[in-house]
Amino acid sequence: MWKVPLFDCNLGASEKAAVQSVLDSGWLTMGPITREFEERFADYIGVKNAVAVANGTAALHLSLLALGLGAGDEVICPSLTFSATSNAVIHAGATPVFADIESTKDFNISARTIEAKLSPQTKAIIVVHYAGYACDMGAINELARKHNVKVIEDAAHAPGAYRESLRCGAMGQVGCFSFYSNKNMTTGEGGMVTTQDETLAERIRLLRSHGMTTSTSDRHSGSARSYDVVALGLNYRIDEIRSALGICQLDQLDLRNAQRKSLDALYRDLLADVEEIEIPFEHNAAFEGSSCHVMSCILTADLGVTALRESLKESGIQSSHHYPAVHLLEWYRREFGYTSGMLPVTEEVSNTQVTLPLYPSMTEDMVYEVVDAVKATLVRSH
Ligand SMILES: *Cc1c(COP(=O)(O)O)cnc(C)c1O
Repeated sequence: MWKVPLFDCNLGASEKAAVQSVLDSGWLTMGPITREFEERFADYIGVKNAVAVANGTAALHLSLLALGLGAGDEVICPSLTFSATSNAVIHAGATPVFADIESTKDFNISARTIEAKLSPQTKAIIVVHYAGYACDMGAINELARKHNVKVIEDAAHAPGAYRESLRCGAMGQVGCFSFYSNKNMTTGEGGMVTTQDETLAERIRLLRSHGMTTSTSDRHSGSARSYDVVALGLNYRIDEIRSALGICQLDQLDLRNAQRKSLDALYRDLLADVEEIEIPFEHNAAFEGSSCHVMSCILTADLGVTALRESLKESGIQSSHHYPAVHLLEWYRREFGYTSGMLPVTEEVSNTQVTLPLYPSMTEDMVYEVVDAVKATLVRSH
């Protein structure tokens, strides 16, 4: 339907072979392939432990539960994110407290904006590395240490992203990844928790699978006969087919991120002389190591984002919005009584933001086509 879609996945011969081999093995639920995926992901990120889970939301929920967060606790997080970030906080029984983003050039929350929301009830911070641009974790970790609060990274946009030689997912107490279809690496549905903390990883493994002391795979192999339930767990397991896909996708991640980076650079180049389009993170310390998850920009023209997106659609170009501010979503307004004006910078960006197509197999010609369509729309609107 679209001449230029918003995103596309890269699934090829290696994925097909990997899935076939799992089917041939006759073992579908969590087992040796998942173990291998976890070990390779942990190595890649540079942490001791990785726990594969059903999706990114499960990764966040398990992290919060394992860190002991619950009723009466406040968790500071951004509103310029996918609602799963703060939904997970509420599912854990805690209360999300939204921090504003740093500026219209840096869409991440920062030590400055987080500090403004600290209270005696603050027990954790969830940062989101927006579009794969890492937050200023040096300053955020320092603030967190000073106030004895935990730091969770929502790294759904940021597999492979780095800043100051650390990868996203290795910068806080826990890192949470999503392998949903539109993310930088995909297993269809899937996720991962990363952490240096052995005890925390064990807790997450336990809660991932009903709080049971042994797995079906342990019992099948004869290493365990029975099980006990020692915590109130969930079923947030991944399976071997997805883990096999994950290993293939991880192998290609650096290549795919590099392809994204070069298309991102072309966009920035071609849009540099368009006054009404501003692209964030240009001179930011997170710029170089970005995983370029999405091509996010701000439209300053009176035309408005709705008209621009409608015009792109007429040219067969899909666009998106990252994000409608979470605090102003219908359920959040109703539940918490939030109104606009609460987070001025987040709201300004949210109201003017548009996401242009970006994916590794996109051609340079397609980038030219998108930019031409944007320019033509702006010229017509003058
Ligand atoms: C995709 C995403 C999630 C949720 O991941 P799922 O795998 O869809 O559950 C959480 N946070 C952010 C920022 C995301 O982009």
